Amino acid sequence: MVHGYHSKILFIDLSRQLIKVLRFNEEFYKVYIGGRGLAAKFLIELVGRDVEAFSPDNVLIIAAGPLTGTPIPMSSRLHFAFKSPVTHAWGESSMGGSFPYFFKHSGIDALIIKGRSKKPVYIHIEDGNAEIKSAENLWGLDTHEAEKALIEEAGGKSIARAIVIGPAGENLVKYAIITHGNPKLGIGRGGQAARTGGGAVMGSKNLKGIVVVKSLSPPVADEGRLNEYVRETINKLAKSEKTKTLRKYGTSPMIDLGHELGFLPTYYWSKVTYEYIEKINAKSLAEILRSPMACMTCPAACGRGVKINIDDNVIEAEGPDYETMYSNGSLSGIRDIKHIVLVNEYADRLGLDTITFGNVYAFAVEAYKAGKLKLPYKIDYGDYHAMLRLLEDIAFAKGDHGKLLGLGVKESSEKIGFKEVVHVKGLEPPGYDPRGLRSMYIAYATSPRGACHLRTMAYVIDIRGLGGPRHMLTPEKIKKIIEWEDWCSMFDSLLLCKFGRDFYSFKEMTKALNAVTGWNVDEKWVRTAGHRITTLVHYYNRGIHNLARNYDVIPSKLFKRSIDGKEPITKSEFENALKTYYEMRGFNADGTMNEDMLLKLGLKIGDIDL
Ligand code: SF4
Repeated sequence: MVHGYHSKILFIDLSRQLIKVLRFNEEFYKVYIGGRGLAAKFLIELVGRDVEAFSPDNVLIIAAGPLTGTPIPMSSRLHFAFKSPVTHAWGESSMGGSFPYFFKHSGIDALIIKGRSKKPVYIHIEDGNAEIKSAENLWGLDTHEAEKALIEEAGGKSIARAIVIGPAGENLVKYAIITHGNPKLGIGRGGQAARTGGGAVMGSKNLKGIVVVKSLSPPVADEGRLNEYVRETINKLAKSEKTKTLRKYGTSPMIDLGHELGFLPTYYWSKVTYEYIEKINAKSLAEILRSPMACMTCPAACGRGVKINIDDNVIEAEGPDYETMYSNGSLSGIRDIKHIVLVNEYADRLGLDTITFGNVYAFAVEAYKAGKLKLPYKIDYGDYHAMLRLLEDIAFAKGDHGKLLGLGVKESSEKIGFKEVVHVKGLEPPGYDPRGLRSMYIAYATSPRGACHLRTMAYVIDIRGLGGPRHMLTPEKIKKIIEWEDWCSMFDSLLLCKFGRDFYSFKEMTKALNAVTGWNVDEKWVRTAGHRITTLVHYYNRGIHNLARNYDVIPSKLFKRSIDGKEPITKSEFENALKTYYEMRGFNADGTMNEDMLLKLGLKIGDIDL
């Protein structure tokens, strides 16, 4: 028995209706840990350079970590990985909520889904076994309806949870999400695998959802030691000011900070401050708060249960987080927090990534005004009716404009010849303008999934002035970014929520891992594991796909002064910083990697039988 794991991974081929059990020993789990590490290993083994994202040969990997399913605070998380239709290379996303906890209690550590079913199906997992069932009656339902139906079918919310795709995933919109957490079900905070198009990959497999039934607890090394650790941790977190702020405001204070420090993306990346900030800020969100909502095992409860009265309708929803507030607020010129709630709710139901949708809308406004984009109706900044209409047209792939904008900003801009576009590797950025937070130039350029804030948390490095002030990109800061990148790999592999970053240092992660597995490893071992997993993930793009310096590109708009005066770094400063990053990581000068980098870390390709 391997404590912290079921030692059971399911491989499902939907084309052949085949279900296979994979078993690995403790040494394997010690190398790849879980979550991101496991997912990277399987994606490298199974999905090569020639496989397209929507090919049946692509796989969707869903992996838990050794801490998932335990009572350790902030540990109800899963990691998703696949060949992305957005980046055409590495795709990943991490999910919180309650589904991850139930997933681990269904008796497996991970699920690998290949192939394409002829007809719509869903997967039912219980007691460590899977069944493929017809979803023909669910196809076409929105995410809330489909999730409710699957949970009821499996015996109700006391024992079951489900993740689903919406119409956007069925219609292969490239930024479709995988989601759960219909607020009407009363199952706490929901969670999404929102970025890089996992929902579209699921749709391409004719897979509507996955339902898991709580039936087998993961084994732990020493229940007493674990319970003692959990008690201590909850006490410390309960006293922490960070926890209290998260509970009171969620992530919304970031929008006020972004405006104050000048990193808030506004009017499609033309400004970094917003004249209507008071209409969409933390205070305005607090005024419509009904109750905080928590993922399982989390005392912080950063989710926002909100209630609004709009257009004669009362809507109760899970409110927007900072990323949705910026992308569907300042970036799109929206001037009322209620309009953001409405767009967020509609996007969740139809199954679209709200960060990307806000970017697509603001991009569409610019392209429409420039006469490059043809639409059947007018759109402009601040017009939430137009946003809702466009959102629906995209999710249902209605008309040429709906199909076009469902490709995301990169491919849309290439098709219409509108060059003022902001993305990195095809992915639209989150809410941190690098002109205000210089570390984000390197974080966006080097992240395997493109413009991403969660693989380094570099925005926090800048806000806190670690390794140098916000307006500088020093070698000390790049060293810090690399250290945090390895730290983030451990958050994504163990798995833990990154809002626990003020508590879960490498040292604290080591204590949590030992309490569950009994491995009694030291902090250095955990740091080395983080480095190993980061290196493995980079190898997918830089080693297998040869996507390196040619791929680590920042859009030209972010090298120009913003309208409100925020200066960018120069291109030569960026080149120097990138060179430093490559050297510190041990990459080749052009950003590529050789397989011997993996061998030096004890990693081999082709050493497992799948
Ligand atoms: S801080 Fe928020 S996202 Fe993180 S585990 Fe808690 S409720 Fe979930």
